[in-house]
Amino acid sequence: MPEDATTAQPSPAPAWKPSTLAVTAGRPAREPDQPLNVPITMASTYVAGGDLEYGRYGNPGWTAFEDALGALEGGRCLAFATGLAAVTTVLDLVGHGAKVVAPAHSYTGTLLQLADLESRGRITATLVDITDTDAVVAACEDAALVWFESPTNPALELADIETISAAAHEAGAYVVVDNTFATPLLQTPLALGADVVVHSATKYLSGHSDVLLGAIATNDDELYAVLKGRRDLLGSTPGTLEAWLALRGLRTLHLRVERAQANAQELVRRLGKHPALSEVRYPGFGGIVSIVLAQGAMAADLLTRKTKLWVHATSLGGVESTFERRRRWKAEPGTIPDGLVRLSVGIEDVDDLWDDLRRALDDLR
Ligand SMILES: *Cc1c(COP(=O)(O)O)cnc(C)c1O
Repeated sequence: MPEDATTAQPSPAPAWKPSTLAVTAGRPAREPDQPLNVPITMASTYVAGGDLEYGRYGNPGWTAFEDALGALEGGRCLAFATGLAAVTTVLDLVGHGAKVVAPAHSYTGTLLQLADLESRGRITATLVDITDTDAVVAACEDAALVWFESPTNPALELADIETISAAAHEAGAYVVVDNTFATPLLQTPLALGADVVVHSATKYLSGHSDVLLGAIATNDDELYAVLKGRRDLLGSTPGTLEAWLALRGLRTLHLRVERAQANAQELVRRLGKHPALSEVRYPGFGGIVSIVLAQGAMAADLLTRKTKLWVHATSLGGVESTFERRRRWKAEPGTIPDGLVRLSVGIEDVDDLWDDLRRALDDLR
């Protein structure tokens, strides 16, 4: 089985900035009559004798997406069927009965995955307050893997990735950062000490709410080979069309994130004074804002049904603004306020977003 399949292409100049890399990385070789983009290759098998051999081991379209995301994260990347498939594959790195440390306020799919593995005796999970650096460092002591989300979902807490990574490495543990919320434009965890970055490419990377896809990035060649082997063996490989759509989305990542962030920052300024809210949470960057309704869950549910522009839907990171009350999901931890609504701010006009949201909030009184 071939270890890894690559397409011929110019490697991006290392000095290029992230927005240039988002546009240029993962292109075919510049030759007359070659398309500018890697075409969609629908193939379950290839003529024998080359690197690819079979559709589960590689596809030129996956490689193009992986090269582009790898260039942005500063490592080598592997695409997966979904974000959760990437999470599953990475958690499978640890041995039987190993201790995994993770934030108590992680993505619910990750929490469910950890609980399921623990209930079957596969691992032990220690859930921590990721903002309490001393406590997390202490928890790292006998850990095999330390999992981060920063900012956390949907509490939007920040972790001291550098300090905790150093402690985790001292204990011989892998350091994994789910970088879905920040994107490599706002945070590059490999540079902060992480061994593996995980993405739900379903969110900002693809950006148009039409694709499920996951990815990992690492700058450790050994880990890359292990994870590639696991992906091939578990069959958690991406769809060909999905990888193509995700790369198309990635080309405008910087524009979308810039605009969503600018909109989010302006909305946070305006929301701060609204009497219907008891709290506005924002980590200072990115396009996700969590608001807490002073009157609790019923007011929050009402809000999500009163808007014309904001769409009531789960997920995040699309061009369109969406929101939901997170505790409507049973798996959401009880320490998340019942009346917390997570806003995924899109790239619409900020005045239209504000008018729609303010009107709905005013109506609650
Ligand atoms: C959505 C999400 C995931 C899971 O990704 P899917 O593509 O839905 O499988 C993992 N982590 C975070 C932070 C997410 O938001």
